[in-house]
Amino acid sequence: MWRRATLLSSLLPSSKASVLNQEKGRIPKKEKPPFITFVLGGPGSGKGTQCAKIVENFGFTHLSAGDLLRNEISSNSENGAMILDTIREGKIVPSNVTVKLIQRAIESSDNDKFLIDGFPRTEENRRTYERIIGAEPNIVLFFDCPEDEMVKRVLSRNQGRVDDNKDTVRKRLEVFTSLNLPVINYYSQKGKLYKIRAVGTEDEIFEQVRPIFAAVESLLKLYDDSTRSNKDLLIFKVP
Ligand code: UDP
Ligand code: MG
Repeated sequence: MWRRATLLSSLLPSSKASVLNQEKGRIPKKEKPPFITFVLGGPGSGKGTQCAKIVENFGFTHLSAGDLLRNEISSNSENGAMILDTIREGKIVPSNVTVKLIQRAIESSDNDKFLIDGFPRTEENRRTYERIIGAEPNIVLFFDCPEDEMVKRVLSRNQGRVDDNKDTVRKRLEVFTSLNLPVINYYSQKGKLYKIRAVGTEDEIFEQVRPIFAAVESLLKLYDDSTRSNKDLLIFKVP
């Protein structure tokens, strides 16, 4: 079983683990599909902050689409310059570029539960993910925050980002409203959306997030020793 195999190999240093897998004559393959959460919300809605708390409390792996793209810029990859220009303008990087980065990060992780933060940003992003990955997310969180609060947070966070300025934040908000809200509505209609009122302190907001992941945790325990499939998980409703 994939989970047992990765657990065993994660106890060993990576070189030993890969030798072990070679001896078995196969590349470790994820037999059970991972549990995927998309984390959506406008710029400054608190996605990254709350993801860190979910990681700490529930052992998820956090994949920020924005961070994966920024890593591509700093590693001077062939798409780096194009990604930098796109982010500077608050526009959306071509879907296949972002999806391949997400796919690579999922595949190279030993974990089987992920938070994909800040993706998909458009319906086209969503369809490309589904086509390349071949699955839908299990649940989708939406951090709902008033626009003036988001602007205030972005302009005061000082993380040295090229896009955290007055002009680009306006553009990002426009892109969010016109392109991301349709994605949020799509998942709402599918019954997969969990809306969080993203106002208050970090801890207050997390108290809305916690029960969702407590339920997910029980669900994953239940399926741990059975044949987990996305279909099984889709019929489960988190309260
Ligand atoms: N971005 C993108 N596709 C993605 C995620 C991010 O093109 O799937 C780009 C986009 O230009 C966005 C920027 O990266 O404005 C920063 O995204 P991030 O999620 O880091 O920041 P947020 O706007 O949520 O604060
Ligand atoms: Mg972020």
